[in-house]
Amino acid sequence: MKAMNYKACVCNLCGTGCGQFLKTDGQKVFGVAPLIAHPVSKGKLCIRGWHSNELLSTNERITTPLIREQGQLRPASYEEAIALVAERLTQLNGEAGEIGILASARSSNEDNFTLARLAHEVFNTRIQGIGAEAGHRKSMASLEHAFGYPGAHGSLTSIDKADYILVVGTDITRQNPIIGGNIHAAQRRGARVVTLSSSRTQIAKLSTKHYQQKPGTKGLLVNALAKALLAIRTVNHDRRANIDLLPGYAEYVASLRSISSVALERASGIRYEEIEEEAKHLEQAKSIVILFSSGISGLDRPTIDAITNLALLTDRMDNENSAVIPVAGISNLQGSFDMGVSGELGNSVFKALATPDSPIKALFAIDHDDGIIRDKARIAELDFVVYSCAYKNAFMELADVVFPLPAYNETDGTYTAADKRVQITHKNVDNPHGVLAGWALFQKIAKTMGHDWQYNDTASVFNDLAKHTPGYHDLSHAQLSKGFGQHWNPKAFAGYRQRKFNAINIEYWESPTTAEFPFALMIGKAQHYWHQNNLMRKTIVPRREYDQTLWLYPHGYIEISPDDATRLKVKDKWLVNVHSSIGTHMKIAVKISPDVQNGTAYIPYFIKNMISDFLLPYENAYAAGEESVVPIKIQEA
Ligand code: SF4
Repeated sequence: MKAMNYKACVCNLCGTGCGQFLKTDGQKVFGVAPLIAHPVSKGKLCIRGWHSNELLSTNERITTPLIREQGQLRPASYEEAIALVAERLTQLNGEAGEIGILASARSSNEDNFTLARLAHEVFNTRIQGIGAEAGHRKSMASLEHAFGYPGAHGSLTSIDKADYILVVGTDITRQNPIIGGNIHAAQRRGARVVTLSSSRTQIAKLSTKHYQQKPGTKGLLVNALAKALLAIRTVNHDRRANIDLLPGYAEYVASLRSISSVALERASGIRYEEIEEEAKHLEQAKSIVILFSSGISGLDRPTIDAITNLALLTDRMDNENSAVIPVAGISNLQGSFDMGVSGELGNSVFKALATPDSPIKALFAIDHDDGIIRDKARIAELDFVVYSCAYKNAFMELADVVFPLPAYNETDGTYTAADKRVQITHKNVDNPHGVLAGWALFQKIAKTMGHDWQYNDTASVFNDLAKHTPGYHDLSHAQLSKGFGQHWNPKAFAGYRQRKFNAINIEYWESPTTAEFPFALMIGKAQHYWHQNNLMRKTIVPRREYDQTLWLYPHGYIEISPDDATRLKVKDKWLVNVHSSIGTHMKIAVKISPDVQNGTAYIPYFIKNMISDFLLPYENAYAAGEESVVPIKIQEA
């Protein structure tokens, strides 16, 4: 029997990037332990991280390349599969938009960097994208405008020392449980934790103050807070450094003037007097951390701009314990953006797939969550689909060629957490089937298509990507191997320290609900149904928790308030029909909850196909992310 050992690693299940030890004999992972010295997770893991060994030991792995023949996938050698891919993709014209790339925000930086090279240099295409990019692109654009670089300002470790923490919207204890735990610890040591959220999420319950606003009004409230802050400074004749000299300041202040206390209360349900009180706390804070959700359930651009404007206005952002962090639910969402695999605006692979007359004929896709295969019918009609993933899933049914990939602990790789911390995970388990790392697979495809790539190992890929990626120049593989990662360096951006306000007029929100569709439906995170369960359903304990919820609510559930349940004459667990104003429909059980407001309804999206079949057809849902509100009616089934 081989000796057991504990190998340091980084959890790859969300954008927190917690440190973990994997208990392994070098062939299999038997258990997980938290890494006490990790600066963010500090000896903690959430249920997903604690059970990642179950995922890493699953039998549901793709172990060999596969080629579709007469409708069935059959095993093939790498040589045969790569030759077929090279032949078919050479026949297509990437420049004319015939080849699309669907990258993964879970892939390592090395895999995404080489995938971007493969797309641009070999396939000659820029039709690309990652699943969660719409929300994150908005966060990056807003942060770049405000701070001069597309990434978080500050570090997640600031939560431990900040004296004011503002959580805008995100259901963070479900999405990034360890960050949620750190915020709770900060509240217990005396930090003021304030949550803006239309439902009483767990972090809202743990906060010093929860503003339970009406849906769609977070940006308005953030602007109201800024207005109240300015009023305090006017009374105090406090000019606050050189904030008023920053570009856009005058327009920003002018845009805040239009906020009236009466209209604010009518739209948001929150009195301006409460916001004035809150502004006094904010004004006194020396270090301020602001967190908001980014990615698939991210906020809309005006709301993010309201947040970054407020951050600048506080004049506390140079304090080492201040931060503004777009919190990602997927492990390497930030890194994917940094590596250049996200789509350019107006040129994304999703747009190509959704546009009936676009020329797209082939798709090269990596590790996709099969719960949200958008445009499945279009993908099925493409001439050629290549899919690569470590785990079996429904996307394989659409593929002509399938390549296996290693799990994150079977190869070296770097991942960039939500706060720009670049961390390395070293291979700690032998790769039993000789599966090629993503970058090595892409290099073989590039070579077969006539390109002379010369990477020998992950370190050589990293050194190349560090040379070509702004902010990564100072990082080296050797250095990252020694500690718990390093934040990439924002000073590399020309706009660094060129801070700017972005005046936005946030309209008073008009609810899209009508007499026929009187409920405002909101969608949120689920802790155990994670990444559409492509990964979690391959575990034992997180899956058991999910199954237990399904046991209680086999059709899933929609939360409504006790008053609305009385009005609808429905009881807990009764089935209801939910119809949206655009004609989509679900049959689902009622869960009566005091956490939702009257006239609103809430569904954590753990029901298969709920997003793809029910939510995505509602255009605004994708544009507005967490701020999206779908008008629905609820009728007894
Ligand atoms: S919070 Fe995220 S990174 Fe940390 S253990 Fe949980 S899933 Fe892993």
